[in-house]
Amino acid sequence: MIESTAKSPERSAHTAVTDRMAINDHEQVVFCQDKATGLRAIIAIHNTTLGPAVGGTRMWNYAGEAEALTDVLRLSRGMTYKNAVAGLNIGGGKAVIIGDPRTVKNEALMRRFGRFVNGLAGRYITAEDVGISTRDMEFVKLETDHVVGLPPYLGGGGDPSPVTAFGVYMAMKASVREATGSDSIEGKRVLVQGVGHVGAYLVDHLIREGARVAVADIFEDRLKAVTATHKVEVVAPDAVYSYPMDIYAPCALGATVNDESLAVLSSSIICGAANNQLRDEQVHGKALLEKGILYAPDFVVNAGGIINCYWEIIGYNKDAALSQAEKIYDTTLNIFKKSKEDQIPTYLAANQMAEARIASIASIKTSF
Ligand code: NAD
Repeated sequence: MIESTAKSPERSAHTAVTDRMAINDHEQVVFCQDKATGLRAIIAIHNTTLGPAVGGTRMWNYAGEAEALTDVLRLSRGMTYKNAVAGLNIGGGKAVIIGDPRTVKNEALMRRFGRFVNGLAGRYITAEDVGISTRDMEFVKLETDHVVGLPPYLGGGGDPSPVTAFGVYMAMKASVREATGSDSIEGKRVLVQGVGHVGAYLVDHLIREGARVAVADIFEDRLKAVTATHKVEVVAPDAVYSYPMDIYAPCALGATVNDESLAVLSSSIICGAANNQLRDEQVHGKALLEKGILYAPDFVVNAGGIINCYWEIIGYNKDAALSQAEKIYDTTLNIFKKSKEDQIPTYLAANQMAEARIASIASIKTSF
């Protein structure tokens, strides 16, 4: 049984790995090392009650093994919750490769990593994440079938961002309905922070529905790509939080919902694609509730990407993936309902929904 409140797996470097795993009940952690390619990686399987663990591989220049372990434990647990609430029959896992992807990554390293994934015989299915591209997954695919996030010519779903953006749009409509009684976004002032892969597709949906859209990005070319096709206002990155808006859509970085932003934020809804939006889940989740700001939990909102990957596992069908992403609308409303009934922050309502589903399936698996 996983616990309702995340406990930080951060411990001293001397804490035994199994003790760190026990904090949030991780099933398995695999350390991978290969001298010839320089590969150093960690694969964490958090929970496989609902099915094989699925989650991307992140490549990052971690300060060391302890930092990488902390990250992979946190990320794999997050995948368990995301997959469970999205109604997918997969568990939570994640992998990290230690090193700078711009200088260390190559075909041999990715293929060696693929062989480690293959060694898990399907208990863990990998995909791309930060620092890893579809091309890298093609190398992994040469060594294992337990990989998704592949290009269409290999039977994959390609870039998941359009599906993620569609799911965010659905969650945003559900949020507006919860706040106003109607799910129309027409005329609403929405600020999209980060117009990269997901943010740009989200802007398309919002403009089509007649929202008043403002965008912010740190890269001029990203802004130009959006302003060339849409009438949107451009806001400087450091003026985002104080900008007058109805809906704040974080689609860039995590931890943007914090003491500083909440002190000036004017929006009544927060709904965006970025992972880990609350700097401190417990502190800022509660603060949002007290301030009356409706927060659509990030891992519920941005599940479109993993839904797309899930359809790769069971046989890719884009329409089916989009149709399942559309259900994020109902899931978001259910979370708001539970949050109101139980008078708890929305992130906690979402966590509890995930735990309830996992517990119910765990009970049938042990009942004979
Ligand atoms: P991306 O890198 O393509 O886009 C992020 C954009 O944010 C970039 O254009 C970047 O310049 C901009 N940005 C960075 N710092 C900024 C700042 N301080 N202010 C304003 N803009 C800033 O990434 P993406 O794939 O669009 O993903 C966006 C977020 O959604 C990430 O947090 C990601 O983890 C999450 N997410 C993405 C997917 C997916 O399918 N791509 C799925 C689930 C979650």
